[in-house]
Amino acid sequence: MPFNDLRRPQVSQADDILAITRRVLESGWPIHGPQHQAFEGALARCVGTSHAVGVASGTDALEIALRATQTDDRKTVITVANAGGYTTVAALAVGLDVRFCDIDPSTLLMAPCALAETLDSDVFAVVVTHLYGRLAEVGAIRDLCADHDVAVIEDCAQAIGARNDNGSAGSLGDLATFSFYPTKNLGAIGDGGAITTSDDDLAARVRQLRQYGWSGKYTITCPGGRNSRLDELQAAVLDYRLPNVDEWNRRRDIIKAYSEATTPAIRVLSAQGDHHSGHLAVVEVEDSSSLARHLKEHGIQSAVHYPTPDHLQPAIKGTLGDVSLPVTERKRDRILSLPCFPELTSDEIVRVCDAMASYRG
Ligand SMILES: *Cc1c(COP(=O)(O)O)cnc(C)c1O
Repeated sequence: MPFNDLRRPQVSQADDILAITRRVLESGWPIHGPQHQAFEGALARCVGTSHAVGVASGTDALEIALRATQTDDRKTVITVANAGGYTTVAALAVGLDVRFCDIDPSTLLMAPCALAETLDSDVFAVVVTHLYGRLAEVGAIRDLCADHDVAVIEDCAQAIGARNDNGSAGSLGDLATFSFYPTKNLGAIGDGGAITTSDDDLAARVRQLRQYGWSGKYTITCPGGRNSRLDELQAAVLDYRLPNVDEWNRRRDIIKAYSEATTPAIRVLSAQGDHHSGHLAVVEVEDSSSLARHLKEHGIQSAVHYPTPDHLQPAIKGTLGDVSLPVTERKRDRILSLPCFPELTSDEIVRVCDAMASYRG
């Protein structure tokens, strides 16, 4: 049983996607045409911001968001080290200093109390990742950042559609980034990403930065620009798929089934409620490789999100000064992700539940 199976949605939607492809081809707009404009509008309405700007990937979105928010000589960005390295890679590409903040032991998300100890006058932005699909404590983080005039960037790659009383993921900070990598809750049939914001100045800067720094054709007025565009075909497929996000977020029900089947040896991270998109079904156990072996014996694939914290990655280790992240490091060998995608059949879900129930640790 696969950890994910992208053939399932692509086969069931193949006729629609072929018709969309034909429409895009016949429109004569490969880039930044009417489909792209329609998708930007639909995404902004869905997230609840004044602007959504398409870009080529989630990592590009992070890079451009960081460039757009850095408006003085402060050069440090704070993020967590357990969220896959995307923010760190983007920040290093921009030439920024990266500082890490430890996580909450129960949610594995950025801990506001740890952030409070990490903030100082070198910091211009905090990137908060809604990891696994769960909204982080953006309110508390914003309050801390406001005291230091620091921008809050939400990484919503895993959390599209998650919401709380204050709004949806992507509308809670100054700026937010999305990825439409095919395995995300809203996936393209290739790469894609977006940035949302309700700040007109930031939106204007982001639009320039994604296209060479142009103010208009062939006039470069914004430094740090590059080419990162969401192509018309991806935008058209995303616009077609966007209305299904809430339905696909019933990944949460899969996680609920797992949490009801579990034994004391396994803690399923809760994903119940609108504040969670159900992106990944993550469990915590004493020894994740032993659970992975047990599942494999039952024919079930699993994965680890993520096996190596950013500061211990081979290309980064030792380059960012002394890093002490006791919770992040303690959790890395204890987490395991179970199959969780909307096309899983009920029989498959039962198989995972049965395998979990027979695990003794
Ligand atoms: C997938 C992901 C990204 C990167 O998105 P790409 O489109 O693959 O560049 C960034 N942040 C998080 C949390 C992700 O899950």
